[in-house]
Amino acid sequence: MYDRINVASKTKKILDSAFDEPISVEDGNYLMNLKGSEIYPLLAAADAVREEIVGDKVTFINNCNINFTNICHVRCGFCAFGKDPDDPEAYLLDDEGILNKAEGGYRDGAREFTLMGGVLEDATIEYYEHLLKLLKSHYPKVEIHGFSPTMIRDAALNSEIPVDEAFKILKKAGLDTLPGTAAEILTDRSREIICPKKVTTQEWIDVIKIAQKAGITGSATMMYGHVETMEERVEHLDILRQIQLDTGGFNEFIPMTFMHEHSPIFLEGQRDLGATGTQDLKLYAVARLMFRDIIPNIQVSWVKMGFRFAQVSLLAGANDLGGTLGGDELSEASGAPDGVNASIRDLTKLVNDLGRDPIERNSTYTEFYPIEF
Ligand code: SF4
Repeated sequence: MYDRINVASKTKKILDSAFDEPISVEDGNYLMNLKGSEIYPLLAAADAVREEIVGDKVTFINNCNINFTNICHVRCGFCAFGKDPDDPEAYLLDDEGILNKAEGGYRDGAREFTLMGGVLEDATIEYYEHLLKLLKSHYPKVEIHGFSPTMIRDAALNSEIPVDEAFKILKKAGLDTLPGTAAEILTDRSREIICPKKVTTQEWIDVIKIAQKAGITGSATMMYGHVETMEERVEHLDILRQIQLDTGGFNEFIPMTFMHEHSPIFLEGQRDLGATGTQDLKLYAVARLMFRDIIPNIQVSWVKMGFRFAQVSLLAGANDLGGTLGGDELSEASGAPDGVNASIRDLTKLVNDLGRDPIERNSTYTEFYPIEF
């Protein structure tokens, strides 16, 4: 593969080794800093490793977001969604409002409700339990992918119960999987700048491990391109890898590029435009080479990158297109370039055009049927 293009011997050596074992943090840092046409062999190697690990299938899920409130006392510097309780745009859905949203998704064939919202200062585990029971009583077959580690930590504190007890209650009430959001960048230096009121790095790790030990698997996420260094991106990947080797409960890795347009830290002039296109591609490729089959599913976020660039990112080591994502108000508030609703047909077209195989899945990657249009 390298015969006709100019590739440094160190790059070649690292990429060759990636076909046999996950690359080290040091090699991840080296690859993250590749420039120019040397990026091509990195992407090709990641794509080839992807093919070896998960084949040519590209999965996605028919899902529906239920953002039950935008009131949030955490107020992260990158978020355009959260509002103070007295903001004219603040809302908190009642049971009827939640069921109305769920019904719309259900009619569109949703297999998963993503139950997410701002962090209510006084929310308790009993309140989240109520939301789960409400949805499960009406839609028992739809999986619920819900809440964040910060929400669970705060609600457990408000309910004066330990986090493992909280997860037992939520699992019994119908929580199927945990989104693994609030990870952002798992270094306290970055978190202190962009989300000082969220869980710390160690708290995020602890809550995720407690959930997984309670039998609630979920996603590993990363929101990058704001205040972190390249080394912190790689450190984050390594933390996820270590968690997975320990508890094994991540179904997927979801890198989310920072959407600057409406974020407070951009509007206040503290940050520039976020990650560049090649940084996005290198993140996917390095993640694939660090994870290999440790976390086999790597998702592109079309809602954050737009359809066209998401499709290109599927050539950099990724194998999942996320969801149809009906009603994702968090991304909508951040300025999603291609909107926040896709149809199965839209996603299928992107995959077919790559010559790969579109497959619908559920939250835990059980596959359904090949899709033909
Ligand atoms: S990202 Fe989540 S926790 Fe942070 S301000 Fe937005 S809604 Fe609140």
